[in-house]
Amino acid sequence: MRIGEHLANNKAPFLSLEFFPPKDKKNYDAFFETVDKLRAANPLFASVTYGAGGGTQEGTLEISARLKKDFGLEPMPHYTCVGASQKRIRAFLDELEGAGVENALALRGDLPPDMDRDMALGNGFSYASDLISFVREEKPGLCLGAAAYPNAHPESPTIRKDLETTKIKTDAGASFLVTQVVFDNRVYFDFVDRLRAMGVDTPVIPGVLPIRSLASLRFILSKCSVSFPGPLIAELERAEAEGGPEAVREAGLAHAVRQTRELLDGGAPGAHLYTLNKPGMCLHIAGELGFGAA
Ligand code: FAD
Repeated sequence: MRIGEHLANNKAPFLSLEFFPPKDKKNYDAFFETVDKLRAANPLFASVTYGAGGGTQEGTLEISARLKKDFGLEPMPHYTCVGASQKRIRAFLDELEGAGVENALALRGDLPPDMDRDMALGNGFSYASDLISFVREEKPGLCLGAAAYPNAHPESPTIRKDLETTKIKTDAGASFLVTQVVFDNRVYFDFVDRLRAMGVDTPVIPGVLPIRSLASLRFILSKCSVSFPGPLIAELERAEAEGGPEAVREAGLAHAVRQTRELLDGGAPGAHLYTLNKPGMCLHIAGELGFGAA
């Protein structure tokens, strides 16, 4: 299934899931047990992240192939072009084709901290849009998505500039967008409205991360510049004070259910759940929203 075509022809809301490849292969069995459990959420597709700094890159391909072959899931490997040569990108694309993978998320990737910016981008792939244009030429059969940032990418000087570069990616051939984690739905809906006003009608799938603990939330917020609703942080802190970590988890889960329902009711095509390779919370969300899980 080519995700872009599916979204163009089907308007039923859906969930999709994001996994990351375990660093150590000895954890693959446990990882695939998680995948097996999460099949009950009936995801439209399952994405697999790609480590820009090495380590888990082969894992992305291997896991994507197994999601398709052994679990009947529609895989969407992520792929980053920063520092990659045309030759390496071609080899990766050939492997995707060989494994029957029909979709990929085309990314630039984070600039390696130890590498000069010009050197990192000096291979002809300065932006995700360069990768998208290259893939369109090389593998027109591969359906591509791209990343989107409702709060703007940290390197973007303004939100307006970020919207323009998002449009460059869709003009280059990304047929859907998946957003960075969103905690405040108003930010997502405003982002989509602004894209529509620029003539971009590409489906924008919001990323939802169920909050597991205050520590994990603080970590995420320190890594990505995303806005967070003040009343929600107050609710989580109150939960912690009154009921400890378990109460925070419950409040985080209740928020994720409410948030996802509001996104879908408000017209988001689906919701992309960041699973962190853990089944429980995502299965609960899927069950509450009627996607078939227990
Ligand atoms: P780009 O779209 O190239 O944007 C990078 C910056 O350049 C932005 O500020 C943008 O506004 C600007 N820009 C883009 N195009 C142009 C242009 N044509 N002219 C001028 N400026 C331009 N990282 C990983 O390493 N592995 C993953 O698996 C991974 N998965 C992700 C999944 C999602 C859903 C998201 C949202 C992000 C993911 N990332 C991942 C993080 C991503 O790699 C970083 O955010 C990276 O810094 C930017 O990648 P990009 O594809 O968005 O870059």
